[in-house]
This record gives sequence, C-alpha cells and structure tokens, in this order.
Amino acid sequence: MISDAKTAFLEKMGEVLDLQAAGALLAWDQEVYMPPKGAEARGKQLATLAALAHRLFVSDEMGALLGALENEDANDALLRETRHDFDQARKLPESFVARFAEAQSRAYHIWVKARETSDFSLFQPALETMVALNREKADLLGYAASPYDALLDEYERGMTAGVLSPLFGDLAAKLSVLVAALGDKAHPEIPWLDREWDVEAQWRLTLRVVEDLGFDLEAGRQDRSVHPFTTNFDLHDVRITTRLNPRDPFSALMGSIHECGHALYEQGFLESDRRTLLAQAPSLGIHESQSRLWENVVGRSEAFWNYCAPLFKRHFDGMDAIAPEAFYHAVNRVAPSLIRVEADECTYNLHIVLRFELERALIEGTLAVSDVPEAWNEKMRAYLGVQVPDDAHGCLQDIHWAHGCFGYFPTYALGNLVSVQLAEAAERALPGLWDDIRAGRFGALLGWLRENVHRHGR
Ligand code: ZN
Repeated sequence: MISDAKTAFLEKMGEVLDLQAAGALLAWDQEVYMPPKGAEARGKQLATLAALAHRLFVSDEMGALLGALENEDANDALLRETRHDFDQARKLPESFVARFAEAQSRAYHIWVKARETSDFSLFQPALETMVALNREKADLLGYAASPYDALLDEYERGMTAGVLSPLFGDLAAKLSVLVAALGDKAHPEIPWLDREWDVEAQWRLTLRVVEDLGFDLEAGRQDRSVHPFTTNFDLHDVRITTRLNPRDPFSALMGSIHECGHALYEQGFLESDRRTLLAQAPSLGIHESQSRLWENVVGRSEAFWNYCAPLFKRHFDGMDAIAPEAFYHAVNRVAPSLIRVEADECTYNLHIVLRFELERALIEGTLAVSDVPEAWNEKMRAYLGVQVPDDAHGCLQDIHWAHGCFGYFPTYALGNLVSVQLAEAAERALPGLWDDIRAGRFGALLGWLRENVHRHGR
C-alpha cells in the first residue's frame, strides 16, 4: 500500500519533472524551429522554468517528505537517488546559481565572438571568471582529493581524477603509437564519395535505418538541427535531431545512428519509473555508451554494411559498382585532425585526454588561463602530431568551458570504453549477434540492452 506521504512525495517529484520537461521542450524548439529573434525571450522563459523547478525541488516541504519516507524504507532506490540530488542542490545557494547562470550567458556570447575572430584574448577574462566560479562551486559541493572531483561527480558520479589519470594516460600512450603507425595509409582517397548527396534521400535513409534499429516513431521523432542531439519529455516522447550535409552522406547517417542509440535507451526505461528521476541514466558516460555502441560497434562494422549497403544504394543513383566493403572502409578511415567532433574512432579519445588534462590543471590551479592556447597546441603536437593554425581550430572550438562545464569531457571517452565492454558482454550472451546484424535484425541486441541496461534507469 502506498502511504499518504509517498503519494505526496511522488506528486511533488512529478511536478518538478514536469517543469523540467517543459523546459526541455522549449530548448528543443529553440534548436529546431524557433526564429532567431526569439532567442532573448526564450532565454528568460528557460531560466524561469529552471528556477521554478529548482525551488520546488529544494523546498523544505520536499525535505520533510523525503525525511519521513526514509524512516519508512531506507533501501528504496528512488529515495536514495532523490536524497543525493536534493543534498547536492541544497549545497548551492540561490545567489550562487544566479551568478553562475549570468556568467554562463555572458561567457557564451563572448566565446561565439572570440571563435569567429579566432581571438583567445577576447575570451580569456570570461574563461577566468568561469574557472573561478567552478572552483567556488567545487568548494561548495565539497571534495576529498581534488576540486576537479567535485565537478566531475556531477556528470559521472563517484569518478575521480585519480582514477581517470592512469586510465587516460595509458589510453593516450597506446593510441598515439597506433595513430603514428597508421600514418597516411589509414586515409585513402575515395573518389566515389566526391559528389553531391541528395539531402532528401539522406533524410529518408536515416529514418529507415533508425526505425530498423528499433526506434519507435510512435513514441519519438527525428528533426533537423545545427548540432545533433537527443532529448525526451517522457519515455513515450523521445526526440532526436540530425544534420544533413550535401557533401558527406555519412555525417547524417552516423549522427542519426548515434542519437538513435541515446533514444533507444530513453525509450527503454520502465513504465513504473515514469515521472520519477529513476527514468534517467546513472551518468553521462553510461548514456554515451549507448550511442557509441550503436554508432561505432554496430554502425562501423562489416556486418552492418552488409545490411546497409543495399539500402544505401537504393537511395542514391550511380552506386551499382560499389561493393559493401567499400562502405565499410569509407566509414572507418582514420586521420589525425584538429576538430574533436569530426574525429574518427581511433583519434577521438586523444582529443578528450587533452581536454581532461588541461581542465583539471585549470581547476587545480596549476595552469593559468592565459597559458591555455600554448598548452593546447603543444598537446595536439604530442598526441596527434598536428599543428594548430589558430585558436578557432584549437582551444576555442568547444562550447563546454564557455558553458561552465568542467568535468564533462571525460564522459565521452568513458562512454567509448563502456560501449565496447557492453558489446563484448552482448557478444558472449548472443552467439548469433553478428549474423543478425548482417541480416538487418537488431532486436536481439536491443532486447539484451533493454534487459541489462535500459530498464534499470538510474
Ligand atoms: Zn552522444
């Protein structure tokens, strides 16, 4: 029987999540439909909803309900998770949250300008403010070894710089050797790729593929946006976006498969966890493991292209002579490059290791903001062997630091690592896995993920 206190608690929690979902819908609209002049008002609307949700969540009433229920059942996962978020949120005074949000918005606009003009000196004061605010935030949240740990914990709970440092160090050492050994061999010219790719055909192909993978279009949809992303307002309303590039047919396709991996996860939470914070991933790294598993392990496999090559050929003219292996080779080219979001599977983690080392040093105070460009360029040479021509193609390329997000980058590499661990486990459990994928049957893999990852939520 559900007690009155539990009913009241679930209703309060539901209201908080409803407000957050409304904010997520406004944010989705901002990326997909909103006209440019709507930005100013939208920023205020989003801030209002976020503040309301926060106030409701950290209220004394919520604290009292939580305390009463904890006395009834100390082992309840929902109470445990809510307690964690509640205590964390109460550590940050509203005045700090407001100051942080204001600095974020200012830093973002300055960063856009600095990147356009490739002028780091323009961004430097804003970044100094962001670093100082994040150190203040770390002090408020508390930490044992490094202030960086307190920030990392928000995205990947329990993870520390002390754990990441040897892991990433080892990874970087091995990947740098591999990248250097591959040299030019890994990036052959592919003449048949050099043409125009009809964007409407690309759109139809991406929809067909995500549906084949198991994305329920009755409980989700795909749209176009400048930066592809996934969002959800409920497990029965999960939205993905993709970006169509007329010069590159793989950009949209692999992007859609990536976001579809996130979306399959969100469609796989339990009905009984709806409108609670258990219908969430336990960490960003785990969320990213789902997108990387479908994009890299499945989508870049030879088996997948046995299924996808005929489909691809049906969507574009002049493809008759191209063998399935040609697609497989094309989506697996490796080349050290300047830009993280365009990096291949082999070099991607090196971009992350570089960012982790720099942002940790910034937060721990062993690197001055003014020295960031030089430190960045030096690491790009050491890890990837590339020369950074200007800051726009170097330390100004990512939005994360302008947004005040320190400790976020490592979750991308952790997602890559977890994705292959899960893939190995799935391979052991499903002997017919690759034959299935070869034939375009993805149900067994999705079922395995549903059972072993998705349904568990947080
Ligand atoms: Zn992702």
